[in-house]
Amino acid sequence: MKNVPLRRTPLEMNAEEFRRVGYSLVDRIAEYLTWINDRSNPITRAESPDQVRHLLSIEGLPATGMPAEKLISKATQLLFDHSLFNGHPKFWGYITSSPAPIGILGDFLASAVNPNVGAFALSPMATEIERQTVRWIADMIGYPTTCGGILVSGGNMANFVCFLAARKAKIPWDVRKEGIAKSKRLRVYCSSETHTWIQKATDIYGLGHDSIAWIQTDDRQRMVAQDLRLKISEDLKNGCVPLLVVGAAGTVGTGAIDPLEEIASICKEFGIWFHVDGAYGGFAAVLPEASSDLKALRLADSVAVDPHKWLYAPLEAGCALVRNREALVDAFSYHPVYYHFDDHADEELTNFHELGPQNSRGFRALKIWLALQQAGKDGYIEMIREDCRLAAELFSALVRYPDLEPLTCGLSIATFRYVPAELRAKGKKAEEYLNKLNTEILSRLQSSGKAYPSNALVKEKYALRVCIVNFRTTADDLMQLPQLVVKIGGETDAELRSREYKPSSD
Ligand SMILES: *Cc1c(COP(=O)(O)O)cnc(C)c1O
Repeated sequence: MKNVPLRRTPLEMNAEEFRRVGYSLVDRIAEYLTWINDRSNPITRAESPDQVRHLLSIEGLPATGMPAEKLISKATQLLFDHSLFNGHPKFWGYITSSPAPIGILGDFLASAVNPNVGAFALSPMATEIERQTVRWIADMIGYPTTCGGILVSGGNMANFVCFLAARKAKIPWDVRKEGIAKSKRLRVYCSSETHTWIQKATDIYGLGHDSIAWIQTDDRQRMVAQDLRLKISEDLKNGCVPLLVVGAAGTVGTGAIDPLEEIASICKEFGIWFHVDGAYGGFAAVLPEASSDLKALRLADSVAVDPHKWLYAPLEAGCALVRNREALVDAFSYHPVYYHFDDHADEELTNFHELGPQNSRGFRALKIWLALQQAGKDGYIEMIREDCRLAAELFSALVRYPDLEPLTCGLSIATFRYVPAELRAKGKKAEEYLNKLNTEILSRLQSSGKAYPSNALVKEKYALRVCIVNFRTTADDLMQLPQLVVKIGGETDAELRSREYKPSSD
């Protein structure tokens, strides 16, 4: 290399320094991966916000710089000593997966190249990798691979993108120009088990959440198609404009799958956009044994899935798929004068800024693209199947514990609660107490660092909820949970009962 004078800046790192700091960081991450596989290590230290805040310097932004080596070492220590580890084999909370190690490396590489995946010209290889990733995702869940699709930050954003495609396609005037002030009668339909993204979407995009028609669910938390039909018919009689129906491919609470096939035919009959929220369960459609209802997501006008859930990609990664690619372009495309991105007019060219709300876009696809190939479709079938099998195994093991009441089991989610024998079927006061008791049991479980379930509300019952999107969990890990709940449940009940439960007032 010629001896050119280099600009000296505080952010530059020469190759030697980068290598030294980088290698030692990789060593620390490798140690961490060994560490979490030791089951006896805690999932969390359950420190309070104050405790965590005090670990950071109270001083303001430093005026002068510091060496990278020292900073990376300090950040590594802070994070490895004071985080909650969803990569731990006993983490089963919410729907946050253990991140695939190849995804960790993928994000590292992606940020090194730093392509702006808003336009092909700025990210030639990254754009094509994202296109291929989207096609593979569609293929995996049995959705037409000719669909349009884009990676976004997560399930909420993926659902928003599909929502906006539906809004553009189904509102009978130019909504992108005129907005929605024209009509107060736009309607969207979803079950009462739907994730809060639908409130956010109707709120953010101007419909307001009064536009939501909440459809009843049956005793398995599935949408009642008959009620959907009824509400649509009433709305039509009253001059409303039905925009879309949201069907769940795995509800966030209990993993319920709506009768997607029936919903599809109702949507077809009335000309309504059929959207499937598969943020949690969509990828389970890859299983050959998936139910026909789950597989019916192939009939939807749009589907949201979440690679940072069941593809085990590190946060963040969601994916919106829209059957008719043009509907996606129609909803988002602009051609500003300051973009000169259409050099290959004779070839099919993807500028992702035209397919979604973002302008500059990071390279989210790489971590997914790598993991999909590392495991292959068969590898994913095996992992997703095992996650579901483990939840079912836990659920059937619960009958052996007289103080545990099994509640639901769907996909890889099992819910149950702690009920001391003498409080079973005792009426309203007892039920209120049981909800308090199980709330407290969950807090104690989570802060124990020994297991990390979360909660669900199942027909007014506060339930402990185990959701396995974790390729490290074994049957052994899981089978220790009932015993732990019985122990913590007994202790908590002994402390709370006399204070919180007055049977005489029942
Ligand atoms: C997780 C989830 C969402 C939201 O996804 P994020 O990635 O958290 O934004 C939406 N719907 C369902 C059914 C989910 O499980």
